[in-house]
Amino acid sequence: MGSEAVPVWLVDLWVEDNAGCLKEPFSPAVVACETGVDLGRALRRCLELVLDGRLELVWEMFCPACFCKWRKAGPDISCPSCGKVLSFHDVYLLFSVTPEYRKHVAEHRSKRIVFSYSRTLRRAGK
Ligand SMILES: [Zn+2]
Repeated sequence: MGSEAVPVWLVDLWVEDNAGCLKEPFSPAVVACETGVDLGRALRRCLELVLDGRLELVWEMFCPACFCKWRKAGPDISCPSCGKVLSFHDVYLLFSVTPEYRKHVAEHRSKRIVFSYSRTLRRAGK
């Protein structure tokens, strides 16, 4: 069974499931590994979720000359510490959950829990 058989919407579910606990930006490689969706499709889906407003891009840069590491909303082309011009090998694309989406998931999830709790009470007889 090839990885093409793994549905790409598992990425959406993974993001929703983890929205509450993802405080740090995450790598698309982690999503690919945990969902079984191959890296190319997981990355593309994460980029689509950026357009949807569920995720935002975080650029992580690593300077091979002075070994400093930093994150920004956009990529730097040179190291702010030593001035070395970075290559694309030194830049990593990460994603973080937008505060709006995290809030939505938190509210949606708690409603769902309340709903199923009230249903459980009803089933138990009032
Ligand atoms: Zn540097």
